[in-house]
Amino acid sequence: MPAIFSGIGNAYSDEILLHAKLTPVKRAGQLSDDEIERLYHSVQATLIDYADRIRAEVGDGFPTKVTAFRPDMGVHGKFNEPCPVCGSPVQRIVYASNEVNYCATCQNGGKRLADRSLSRLLKDDWPRTIEELDGDE
Ligand SMILES: [Zn+2]
Repeated sequence: MPAIFSGIGNAYSDEILLHAKLTPVKRAGQLSDDEIERLYHSVQATLIDYADRIRAEVGDGFPTKVTAFRPDMGVHGKFNEPCPVCGSPVQRIVYASNEVNYCATCQNGGKRLADRSLSRLLKDDWPRTIEELDGDE
């Protein structure tokens, strides 16, 4: 969802999508009203949650180290570790020097996404449906 998340770090977008239980490979224009509603709620809930955690750690000081990765994150940087929601191993899609982490159970109907699905999606714009991705597995 590059349009929605362009201003939010990759780490937080992983957490937001887990919270919203949305697959990382669906384009924003393809979301249903219900999914948009969940995403909107999750962006707020997730960012407020992490802002609170950072504030609690920093106290009255100024946050000098707001890193992209936090050990208390649910899926980001947690490849193969249990999803905090359902316990399934966290999956990843690697591209260039980056990776997207997601839970196949919570976010993609239990199906893993192929690594190349994201590189193709970055090249050809986002796939229209998950079925399209699965089509040439
Ligand atoms: Zn899960």
